[in-house]
Formats: sequence, structure tokens, C-alpha cells
Amino acid sequence: MGSGVGGKDRAGSPALALFNTMGRKKEPFVPLEPGRAGMYTCGPTVYNYAHIGNLRTYIFEDILRRTLEYNGFKVTHVMNITDVGHLTSDADTGEDKMEEGARREGKSIWEIAAFYTEAFRRDIARLNILPPTIWCEATKHIPEQIELVRRLEEKGYAYLLPDGVYFDTSKFPDYGKLAMLDIEGLMAGARVRPAEGKRSPTDFALWKLTPPGVKRQMEWDSPWGRGFPGWHIECSAMAMKYLGETFDIHAGGVDHINVHHTNEIAQAECATGKRFVRYWLHGEFLVMEKDKMSKSAGNFITLQTLVDRGFDPLDYRYLCLTAHYRSQLVFRRESLDAARSARRSLLERIHAHGAGAGAAGGSAGVAKACERYAARFLEAINDDLNVPAALAVAWELARDSSVPAGGKKRVLLDFDRVFGLRLDAPLPADPNGEIPDEVKALAARREEARKAKNWKEADALREALGKIGYRVEDTPDGPRIFRV
Ligand code: AMP
Ligand code: ZN
Repeated sequence: MGSGVGGKDRAGSPALALFNTMGRKKEPFVPLEPGRAGMYTCGPTVYNYAHIGNLRTYIFEDILRRTLEYNGFKVTHVMNITDVGHLTSDADTGEDKMEEGARREGKSIWEIAAFYTEAFRRDIARLNILPPTIWCEATKHIPEQIELVRRLEEKGYAYLLPDGVYFDTSKFPDYGKLAMLDIEGLMAGARVRPAEGKRSPTDFALWKLTPPGVKRQMEWDSPWGRGFPGWHIECSAMAMKYLGETFDIHAGGVDHINVHHTNEIAQAECATGKRFVRYWLHGEFLVMEKDKMSKSAGNFITLQTLVDRGFDPLDYRYLCLTAHYRSQLVFRRESLDAARSARRSLLERIHAHGAGAGAAGGSAGVAKACERYAARFLEAINDDLNVPAALAVAWELARDSSVPAGGKKRVLLDFDRVFGLRLDAPLPADPNGEIPDEVKALAARREEARKAKNWKEADALREALGKIGYRVEDTPDGPRIFRV
């Protein structure tokens, strides 16, 4: 199916196979409706900026979507925005992350949600991640969530405790199938005390009640009293609203397997009696050299941090493409440097192919060679999104002196429909990228200190620049800043 390079039919080309976490094996992708794919991806909790680990997951999901589209599927991609109900602990205790963010910044929750939603949209645009077909905020779907809890209660899957309505996991024989019943991993009570009165440690909140005498910034009336939805219910309710009770693909990071996605399945399947999702895909984590990156650890890198250090967001995207989505990626400064050089070098090769390069150029032999590269590319991406292998094919073609410039450019830009590296963009002017304003300001302060003969301060500022990767040199034309 689908249209290939230059609109050719892809009949006979390898079908798309995806690794389904449900069952832990690669399966050919056969959608419910021929030619169409419905896909739901868990979006951000908008109480802070996304960190680059989160962004790795959104890049993986973007590659998945682009691969489906490259194969000719018409994709409906739904992404939620969690703006209520995600507690600081998975055990249904702790504070709502949104309340925490609002307190931290002395703003209302609604302001926090609007600000970080916008920041997230900007980040994904900078990473050339295609926006979802449908964005949906949890707070705009409260009636749908209440209705789902009501259905579960009616069917005997819910019970009431003083602090909320809970899902009784013992009533769902398939509970934990996605996580392969790793009870250890499912023990929400392992590190934090579960909410008082839960029948099983794996039971989870469907609706949390506001305690008497408390006024929350975000709360709604419900058949059980004023309160707010549990975190998991929003995804089940919104995914089914926009994609139907059974749909094709659901994706997220691996941390969602044990609790969040396991609970989404329980809620949806017990309410409908139908299979919720046909293909579950999970992206592995980006890890810092030593430990796991998390927002709550307080020490996390955002996309803006990388931009401030002179990187283009697409350098980070390139770095993510160098690892398969099911392998961990260790974040190192040197790897990001290498990704920047590689992306630039690929851009240079495409630009060297010059204007008027649209024609395939050359003989039937050349056309055959281009087709062979395209077939290998398709084989790689269709083998469970093997993008590192696809990138290797692109590089081989870029270096192949037997293929004329025009043909190369045409094929590489076609591959870029999946890579999303904006290979048709103009070359950046400076190989080191722009010097960020923050760095220029530090260098100017150092210059002032030097003029005032305040050597101690000038040295301290030079050292501060060094720490963020810059060196300042005093030249006859004044100080100049270099990236180290
Ligand atoms: P959150 O905003 O915490 O709900 O996370 C948003 C997405 O990022 C989810 O799909 C998580 O699974 C994913 N995620 C969280 N931490 C990382 C990480 N270090 N590397 C990759 N993905 C992550
Ligand atoms: Zn979700």
C-alpha cells in the first residue's frame, strides 16, 4: 500500500512490523480500517517544562507517525494534555503536580497550565514534531471521565472510600497483562504507603474527593461529591471519545507500562467489554550518564538549555535518531556534539548538490540505484522503526559518488519525510551556531571587570564561561567568544 519514492507503488515492499508490548513480539501492522491508523500518545503534565527525556519519547512517537504516513496510512493522532489529577506519587497519594507547580510559581493553576502548554507546543515545533491531529485537555473532558467512572461503578468495578472512588483490580482477571503481571513492579505501595483502605495495593483512584473544608483551585461536582479525576481515567475517556472503544496504536514511555497504561486498559476494557488497544508501543528512556532524569529530581535539562548552549533543537533530534527507540540512550555532551556535526555535514552534502537538483538525472542504472537505496530505507523503518539503520542507508547514499547530485537530493529529501531533520533548510551560518545572549552578557561583564582592573571578578567570569562551554579571547579587535 501507499505511494513510494516518486509516487511509485510499494506493492511487494516489506510490510510495516511493530514491536507490541502486549505479547512482547514484533507483529505486522494491520489497522482496523484499511489505509487508516488511529494513534493515541500520552502527552505532558503541564506543570513545568518538558525535559529532554520526555522529548525523546515525543520524537519516537513522531517517527512512528511519520513512518505510518510514509507507508501511506492516513493517521489520526490524538494527544492529551494533563492539566489536572496527576499526583506526585503513583500510589494516589501526594499533591496534584499542577497544584505543586502553581505554588512554586505563585500563580493560578490555570495560568501554569496555559504557560507550560504553550511552552510544550513551542518545543515540539522546534523539534519538527508534527502536531497531533487532535489535542485534548483533561479539564475540558470532565463529563466524559465522570461518565466512564459511572459505567465502571454500575458494572461493579468501583468502590467508594472516604477520599475517593477506587477501581477494584481484583475484579479484572487480565489486570497486569501488559506489564506481564510483574507484581513487584505493580506494587504501588512498595515505596509509598497506599491510600488508606484500598482493597489491593494495585487498586487506583478513579475520582478523588476534595476533603471537607478544603477548597481546591480545580474541582468539579460529581455523583460522588466535589473533587477531581484520577490521572489514568482521562486517557481512557479521551482516547475512546476520539478514536473509538477499540483503536490501533497507543504509545508512551516505558515507565507507563506498569501503572498508567495497565490502569488505562483496566478502565476501558471493564467498561466496554472490548479490547482497548491493538498495538502498544513504548519508548526507552534517555538517561543521564549516572542516573535517571526526572522532573521531580529538580535537575533536568530542557530544550532551551541546549539552545542556550548553542545547539539547534534538530541536533538533539538527530541524536535521538541514532538510537533505536527500544534502547536506552545515554545523554553525553560529546554525543550531542557529534550529532551536530553529522547533521551539518548531511545538510552540506545536500546543499552541495545545488540548485536544479530536482531531476533524477542520468541513466536507468542510476534510477535503479536510487530505487535500491529507497527499498533498503523502507525495509529499515518498517522493521520496527529501525531509524539508525535507515540513517546509515542515507549516509551511504550521500557518499555514493556513482549517484548524481539531483537523484541523491531527491531521495534524501524523501527519506526526510520520516527523519524530520529539515534537510531542505538553509545551512546554518556559523558551524558553532549562534552565541547565546546569556553567554554574550557574561563576556560583556567580564570585559567591564577587566577595564575596571577587577581581575578577580574577570577571572571568575572567565571560569563561569568555561563551565558552560565557552572561551573568551582578547584579540586586537576586542574580546571574542569561542565554543570550546
Ligand atoms: P510526564 O510529563 O511525566 O507524563 O512524561 C511525558 C512522557 O515522557 C511520558 O511518555 C513518559 O513516559 C516520558 N518520559 C519521562 N521520562 C523520560 C526519560 N527520561 N526518557 C524518555 N522518556 C521519558
Ligand atoms: Zn496516558
